[in-house]
Amino acid sequence: MIDLRSDTVTRPSAGMLAAMTSAPVGDDVYGEDPTITALEERVAGLLGHEAGLFTVTGSLANILGVRALVAPGTEILCEANAHVARAELGAHAALSGVTTRTWSAAGGQIDLDQVRALVAPDLGPYFVPTAAVSVENTHNFGGGTIQHHFDALADELDARGLPLHLDGARLWNASVASGVAPAAYASRAAAASVCLSKGLGAPVGSVLVGSQELVREARVWRKRLGAGWRQAGVLAAAGLYALDHNVERLAEDHANARQIAEILADAAPGSVKPDQVETNIVVADLAATGRTVAEVVEGAKAAGVLIGGVGATQLRLVTHLDASAAHCRQAAEVVARLLS
Ligand SMILES: *Cc1c(COP(=O)(O)O)cnc(C)c1O
Repeated sequence: MIDLRSDTVTRPSAGMLAAMTSAPVGDDVYGEDPTITALEERVAGLLGHEAGLFTVTGSLANILGVRALVAPGTEILCEANAHVARAELGAHAALSGVTTRTWSAAGGQIDLDQVRALVAPDLGPYFVPTAAVSVENTHNFGGGTIQHHFDALADELDARGLPLHLDGARLWNASVASGVAPAAYASRAAAASVCLSKGLGAPVGSVLVGSQELVREARVWRKRLGAGWRQAGVLAAAGLYALDHNVERLAEDHANARQIAEILADAAPGSVKPDQVETNIVVADLAATGRTVAEVVEGAKAAGVLIGGVGATQLRLVTHLDASAAHCRQAAEVVARLLS
């Protein structure tokens, strides 16, 4: 099977497993796991922040980051297809009392005019105060898109004294593709999360970064939510290994995604625009093909290729370090046959 459902399906390599089994560890609830501490400091440094917190998932890193910025009964603004709004099972409302309003834009882009129209930090006694804006970079359901108005939004929020939350699950992809350093994005945000278990290939883990104070509070809430951990340095070691070995190579995943997009665009013109595939995610729209998502997903599976659906008419194919250029080409040809 060639599995392009997600970049989370990768398995730890032999080198990564060796790093995990030789990691020095201790009890992290006491702050005594040297490998976790090293990972937290390294990621904080890479992202231009004072401190970091290693978490079991990106969702938890987002839950802790958003709750540090958005008090119960206040709101966060984000794009309508943001992971924080759609794919965290309502965690920010269910656990933190956060309400959400959204803007909609192609590719999940920042739309400054819409953000300006939504922002309402103090509209009087009836209205929920806006406490922060959250941006996803790259934008997952938008098709792995890089945010092209990131600095303009950060400038606008600075001027208004409102904090930015960055969901940087795939910030590494944005950075490799755009040439903008991770810190140049993340340092503009008051809280930012990054995943180690997507394109970077670690089996588990994300890191939340922010000020010392924000991370101190997030550490308390992580424990309160039952997610403190002990000798998890075995997992942090995988993250450190991933940062050493698997960041620059994301460019290969991006080239493979572009190749898939070109093959699909040839087979089903208009389903995907290859020049809009900036990183490792290809979203193809089936509306004009007369095929259903279920039909194509099932047909691909029968031919040994796993892909996913997003929404009623869209397929998603995600490239990663366990899918070679040859695998990606083969998978694209299988899907192309089903579309044409
Ligand atoms: C994967 C992902 C996350 C975190 O997901 P977990 O499965 O909780 O680790 C957060 N944001 C985005 C945009 C993602 O793609």
